[in-house]
Amino acid sequence: MSADAVLTLSDLESWSRPGTSLAVLGQPIGHSISPAMHNAALADIAISNPSFADWRYFRFEIPPADLPRALELFHAKKFRGLNLTVPHKVLAFDRVATVAEAARPVGAVNTLLWEARGWRGHNTDGYGLVGALRQDLGCDLAGKHVILLGAGGAARSAGVECLRRNCASLSIANRTRENLDALLAVLAPLAGGIPLRGFAPDTPPAGLPAGAVVINATSAGLRAADPAPIELQRLPRPASVFDMIYNPPQTPLLRAAAALGLPHANGLSMLVHQGAKSLEIWSGIPAGGTAPVMQAAARAALNPK
Ligand code: NDP
Repeated sequence: MSADAVLTLSDLESWSRPGTSLAVLGQPIGHSISPAMHNAALADIAISNPSFADWRYFRFEIPPADLPRALELFHAKKFRGLNLTVPHKVLAFDRVATVAEAARPVGAVNTLLWEARGWRGHNTDGYGLVGALRQDLGCDLAGKHVILLGAGGAARSAGVECLRRNCASLSIANRTRENLDALLAVLAPLAGGIPLRGFAPDTPPAGLPAGAVVINATSAGLRAADPAPIELQRLPRPASVFDMIYNPPQTPLLRAAAALGLPHANGLSMLVHQGAKSLEIWSGIPAGGTAPVMQAAARAALNPK
């Protein structure tokens, strides 16, 4: 079975590969560069540790209605681990046998580990965000003011991570007020004494902090015609700007950050660090060791020669 193919539930039904298998599940999945990242890291590990020589990572196009059956089958076929991407992260949360402590407040899982009693769910997106901010912007969330854009799944994991890391304050902007209010309700019990507020992106309120890190967790910027999720120049001057989107590599928000002379980075390193942490959960190999190989493979996959 080629690791480049886009596989389906019927490929899984007839699965008989003898080696250790891993996979990412999503819909659509054809664009995913996770197989390139993971298989490069596995090949690198296998040079010094031949027990990884038969490990391979595949991608499966799974519609949401098929997820329950797929999770059962992947478990029966003894896949060592799974990654979940859009639209499965929240759906799978209620379908795993156990959830790691850190993933519980996120309400979504992106990494499953095979255990005899069933799947154990983890979420490595927060780890990926922290690693990317540190690597690309020299930014540590502890003690930082954060302006977070978005109220979907990625914003929820980012918000949980900001509060867990003791940010100085968390201000969240989202287009749809009811989604913003739902996210604020989830985060409020985790905030302790950390100031937490929401606002509409087209009317930033007075009193937002200067020197914040602005994190885009909306999907505005995925398509060429998308507007920026906020007008950066209407905010007190931020310290830096991070956009979770990595394809395209430049978004309207990042172009605005460049025009204002602000340090900025896209989401590629976040993808890499969350992937390296998933591989650590499955293999025991520390994420810091595999991230550089994954980063090079991700760049190559996005910019084929
Ligand atoms: P969701 O669908 O759960 O949430 C989408 C969010 O984007 C909502 O807040 C939505 O606002 C907002 N939004 C969508 N379109 C627009 C628009 N035109 N203008 C303003 N806001 C908009 O998606 P996720 O949270 O799963 O993902 C969000 C982004 O993060 C995606 O681009 C995804 O690719 C990226 N991501 C990157 C990762 C990485 O590793 N680099 C990891 C995870 C996600 P509303 O509530 O108003 O609908």
